Amino acid sequence: MSTSTDNADPVATTIDVENPATGDIIGTVENMSAEQVVGLVAAARAAQPAWEAIGFAGRGRLVRALRSWFVAERDQIIDLVVAENGKTREDALLAELYYVADSMGFWARNAAKYLADESPRKHSPLMLGKQVVVRHRPLGVVGVIAPWNYPLTLSIGDALPALMAGNTVIVKPSEITPLAVQFVVRAAREVGFPEGVLQIATGAGETGAALVDAVDMIQFTGSTNTGRRIAARCGERLIPCSVELGGKDPMIVLADANIERAVNVAVEWALRNSGQICMSVERLYVEEPIYDEFVAKVCEKVSTLRQGAPGPYGSVDIGAITSAPQLDIIERHVADAIAKGARVLMGGHRKPGPGRFFEPTVLVDVDHTMACMTEETFGPLLPIMKVPNESEAIRLANETPYGLGSSIFSRDIAKAKQLARRLTAGNTWINDAVMSYLVQEAPFAGAGDSGLGGRHGEQGIRKYCDTHTILLTRLALDHEPTMFPNSAGRTQFFDRLVALMFGR
Ligand code: NAD
Repeated sequence: MSTSTDNADPVATTIDVENPATGDIIGTVENMSAEQVVGLVAAARAAQPAWEAIGFAGRGRLVRALRSWFVAERDQIIDLVVAENGKTREDALLAELYYVADSMGFWARNAAKYLADESPRKHSPLMLGKQVVVRHRPLGVVGVIAPWNYPLTLSIGDALPALMAGNTVIVKPSEITPLAVQFVVRAAREVGFPEGVLQIATGAGETGAALVDAVDMIQFTGSTNTGRRIAARCGERLIPCSVELGGKDPMIVLADANIERAVNVAVEWALRNSGQICMSVERLYVEEPIYDEFVAKVCEKVSTLRQGAPGPYGSVDIGAITSAPQLDIIERHVADAIAKGARVLMGGHRKPGPGRFFEPTVLVDVDHTMACMTEETFGPLLPIMKVPNESEAIRLANETPYGLGSSIFSRDIAKAKQLARRLTAGNTWINDAVMSYLVQEAPFAGAGDSGLGGRHGEQGIRKYCDTHTILLTRLALDHEPTMFPNSAGRTQFFDRLVALMFGR
């Protein structure tokens, strides 16, 4: 990415979008100013009441129309995602196209159920004759700020429940990968979304900050540092936010595990999208009796993988490193590990250009003094640590401030289930990794520095709403016993009632 001043307007700048696998410039977008963002928010605010008024069925029809277009145009969409992100076509198809298309149907189908009015059972005898209804009311204008690693899944995917709840939405994609989102947002207008309902604010961090300053709620996915700043600003403005942040996911492999499966899952989820997934396997703890066999099998498997500029389906397994600063972090983590005594069994180097690539890298003799075991790498590393027992594995797994995902491999399911409850993480996968992300009925959230809020399930749509509790008194005395004037006799009666009801 680079920015340049646009001659036509001394204030506006543009951002060039680069293909990280080739170094070619493949597009240019506006770097929107704060005034432009304010204009988008005004349009979104004007459009919101009518969007809310068309109801779940009306909104669902439009989301389904967008899905039909999305699936029909999938080749072009995948081309854009692959070109701006550098990932393989397979990853773009499965983790972006499939996920977003599935999500469109999921929210179109389930929003009304999750947001239906509720009448909670009232426990208090003082509420006799009164009816209570809790309604979930859209917040207004939602800003969705997204990262570059899954350009559509983490922008359009999060916009869907906000839209289905009756909010209007402005998506701020990463400045590194804005093209696919722009394509989808334009198509929403073409399939019939009213003007102002779904808009895009292209630009860098300042554009995102302007959005935080103007909307009614922020859904953010990105680094923990940026998330902290955004949550602080939302706190000042007293608007809600949901922040989905970084991770350092551990995988624990116990001596009784199915080693073959554990190796396949480790290699897949450490290296898919070049390790640029918030819930990548970032560190492995393997029990001593199977450690040598496990490491040998990982190396064997990694040696068969093909890396390079993504071509047609089946052409490569691992693509590019999307952002230039990320490549420096990966290189620093490897250098730091080597300096502190780690051994590199495979890879370990960035590849010469064109494009940005880092070799799939297997590190052993690692420990928690090394950045690769405690800080998010977001790259194709497999640091593997030998552990004497399961308790030590759990202790080490919990020894980072992050808490997004975590895996345990064991044939003893009862033991694995017990150990799972000792992990500080939003998600734990037994004999698996990542997969609960596809269960859109269940929350996907981070603990600790991995975030606040979460997506999916009931809470994944209710976060885009206020609650509005409406009490109705239909049958009541004109003058209820608790009303003025106060009297000593009546209050003593209530005093005895309190003792009777709660004093035992
Ligand atoms: P980032 O924090 O650098 O940027 C994310 C977005 O925030 C971009 O659109 C950026 O322009 C915008 N931004 C930057 N500064 C801003 C500011 N001051 N105010 C408002 N917006 C601002 O993150 P990234 O490098 O794009 O993404 C990688 C990170 O995202 C990794 O840490 C990864 O773990 C995390 N991530 C988390 C999840 C999850 O679900 N928990 C999913 C994917 C990625």
